Amino acid sequence: MKAIRRLHVRTVLPDALSPLHDLALNLRWSWHPPTLDLFESIDPVKWQECRRQPMAMLSSLTPADLTRLEGDAGFVQRAREAGEGLQRYLSEPRWYQREAQAAAGDDFSQAFAYFSPEFGLTAALPQYSGGLGILAGDHLKSASDLGVPIVGIGLFYKSGYFRQRLNAEGWQQESYPVLDPDDLPLSLLREADGSPAVLSLAMPGGAHLDAHVWRAQVGRVPLLLLDSDVETNDASRRDLTDRLYGGGGDQRLQQEMLLGIGGVRALRLWSRLTGAPEPDVYHMNEGHAGFQGLERISELTQAADLTFEEALRAVRASTVFTTHTPVPAGIDRFGINQIGQHFGGAAELPGVPLTKLLELGAETYRGGDTGVFNMAVMGLRLGQRANGVSVLHGAVSRGMFKGLWPGFDESEVPIGSITNGVHAGTWVDRKVFDLATEFMGPHAIQDGTAFSSVDQVPTDRIWSTKREMREQLVAETRTRLRKSMRDRGATSAELGWIDDVLDPDVLTIGFARRVPTYKRLTLMLRDPERLAKILLDEERPVQLVIAGKAHPADDTGKRLIQEMVRFTDDPKLRHRIVFLPNYDIAMAQRLYPGCDVWLNNPLRPFEACGTSGMKAALNGALNLSILDGWWDEWFDGENGWAIPTADGVDDERRDELEASALYDLLENNVVPTFYDRDEAGLPTRWLEMLTHTLGTLGPKVMADRMVQDYTQSLYLPAARAGRAVAQRNFEGARDLAERVARLRQAWPSVRVEHVEAEGVSDTPQVGETVRVRAYLALGGLSPEEVTVQVAFGRASESDELTEVETSVLEPVESYEGGKHRFDGELALTRTGSLGWTVRVLPAHPLLASDAELGLVANA
Ligand SMILES: *Cc1c(COP(=O)(O)O)cnc(C)c1O
Repeated sequence: MKAIRRLHVRTVLPDALSPLHDLALNLRWSWHPPTLDLFESIDPVKWQECRRQPMAMLSSLTPADLTRLEGDAGFVQRAREAGEGLQRYLSEPRWYQREAQAAAGDDFSQAFAYFSPEFGLTAALPQYSGGLGILAGDHLKSASDLGVPIVGIGLFYKSGYFRQRLNAEGWQQESYPVLDPDDLPLSLLREADGSPAVLSLAMPGGAHLDAHVWRAQVGRVPLLLLDSDVETNDASRRDLTDRLYGGGGDQRLQQEMLLGIGGVRALRLWSRLTGAPEPDVYHMNEGHAGFQGLERISELTQAADLTFEEALRAVRASTVFTTHTPVPAGIDRFGINQIGQHFGGAAELPGVPLTKLLELGAETYRGGDTGVFNMAVMGLRLGQRANGVSVLHGAVSRGMFKGLWPGFDESEVPIGSITNGVHAGTWVDRKVFDLATEFMGPHAIQDGTAFSSVDQVPTDRIWSTKREMREQLVAETRTRLRKSMRDRGATSAELGWIDDVLDPDVLTIGFARRVPTYKRLTLMLRDPERLAKILLDEERPVQLVIAGKAHPADDTGKRLIQEMVRFTDDPKLRHRIVFLPNYDIAMAQRLYPGCDVWLNNPLRPFEACGTSGMKAALNGALNLSILDGWWDEWFDGENGWAIPTADGVDDERRDELEASALYDLLENNVVPTFYDRDEAGLPTRWLEMLTHTLGTLGPKVMADRMVQDYTQSLYLPAARAGRAVAQRNFEGARDLAERVARLRQAWPSVRVEHVEAEGVSDTPQVGETVRVRAYLALGGLSPEEVTVQVAFGRASESDELTEVETSVLEPVESYEGGKHRFDGELALTRTGSLGWTVRVLPAHPLLASDAELGLVANA
């Protein structure tokens, strides 16, 4: 029989158990072990069947279960206390209230909107494909812990990202299990009359796309997820949000329209229905959400009667853009015709002419493609503040995008960096959590003190905990491998060997990540015999656990996985090396703690940051990695090992050299250090490195540090800038737009005509001052509309200046024909081979950096 209708009958909890509902609906359980313990205590067997997901657990309770629980006074009391604990967590002042808000006084910001195409919060909500999504999830969780008033915006993908299996040949198979929102910690945003709230977007050909909004609650942070599976949409539109990164072309573009434009509309609905404040700042986590800026420009042209240029100035002030990848293929680009179909003619957003829109995404730099609309480039043009995700990635991004700010030195390109972090509460294993609680109290992990005071924990306890976690991983690996081998067609009778896979006393190395080419999954297979020898060493063996998903359309990645799987299938090796299908948060939470070494060998500098190594480090693993992303910044010689990069050779040779360096490090450093034991059987040197890692890296890699950095260096300045442009009916935005127009028009005639210097001796010495006088043509601009600087720095052989410092020249005299004299001083504060020049820049109090408008006239 087949059902003709589906319905979801919800459990009704008796009053005494009502706290369970709030506890299950708030995703804080995903990083709060005591809440999970409470649900597990209801019925440990059922708990496993429900995949340790509280909402599913509640749905599964029978009336008899409820009667039993209601009569259990101890349980009722624990549930009540847990509920009160959650309420306290949600209402008490936290870091933001205590520090940031206190410092800002009445001017504090009430909401920061955080847009992301993916969110990785828990394995139960597979709305992520990899690092970008996990980072977004960790960002929300830390914002919650810190009290930072973020509201997240994303899409609800009913089939999420795919589940990975292997076939007999080791080829990746994808499946897309459908999620039932009723069994998940989600609630539908509803109008006052109880009907689901709907928002709508114009589509090509006069069509519409409607969407519902699901709300997930991540501790204190609401997360709004837009869902196109609405009855008023036709079948193909209903499926628009079915999968994360599912289709290409139009589906991808329309998903991003829903995320950006629909996302802003969802925020407006959210404010109207709940009274929540409108966001002060809009943060785009990667370019996918860039269309949010267009919707806001459109809103301002309608509601505040601004021109496109004025609205653009206002939107930029309150927008933050984070770029996440230096890999060209990772950057979202659409054809300009495709953009024309979706944003031109009848589909035009009011106040956003197609020509203006196309200018925002145009690759107007050398090597750019004129037929293409680039979402990262649009992000940079829509956000007055922008950053990469590690120091190295910030530098690489400045190099990549410097063409958007011609005339400026790469170091002045206005893209900074904030290094990613990871949410300790989510990623620290329960056993580490318990150990920290035993020695340092229950809050030590959450507040980070567990890491800075790791010395208080005896090293033998750290070591025995590490063994327990390895044991946990061994058990988990065998279970997963058995299931995978069955999927691949093996019978139970053939799988006896799995009982001997991995050993809790053997040095364990982990390698798990998505499988784009630059991550080089198979680098370790360069010399298979040498690897086999390392694994099979009788005295000092090594074991490797490997996992990773290739994008469904990426056959190259699937071939790499197959190559790896075939290697791990070898009966001589299979007890020491395994490939586990379906890398996800649940696997990651077991994998990192069980590893002694976390391996990463990307092609430098394509790993923007990387976070898995941070999660491993928080669980007492040492990193063995190419100096890329975060590791380039924080490797200190004591916290692991750096695989040297072979620059300046062809790719083949480079792989060869770097693989060989990897084997050398394993054979000569990693393995001997691990197996060098004292009388008590402890690896003294290893434990030194491990405690050093926990103590010094621990505090740095925390997402709390990252969210504090975002709040202080980007959100609060953007909120202030946003308020400044908006005052007195957007006077600032109007004034700035007018100035920008004047500057752009006059700039071709702005010139440094003549420079005089006085006071330079024949043998200049540090401490001397040079008096500088510059004669300029300003093409009709007044002296107040520009800044004139003397720029001073190290001079290369070709006279290029680096490490530039600047000082300002002041207007002294004006002459006929738009000529002006500016005077000032240059202090020779440095020694060596130096040089200086004079330059003219735009001036306006609402500009955030010298390079912002890409206008400069150098002498
Ligand atoms: C942390 C994590 C990632 C990202 O790891 P990288 O180091 O950035 O490759 C990907 N997938 C899962 C499941 C993770 O937990």
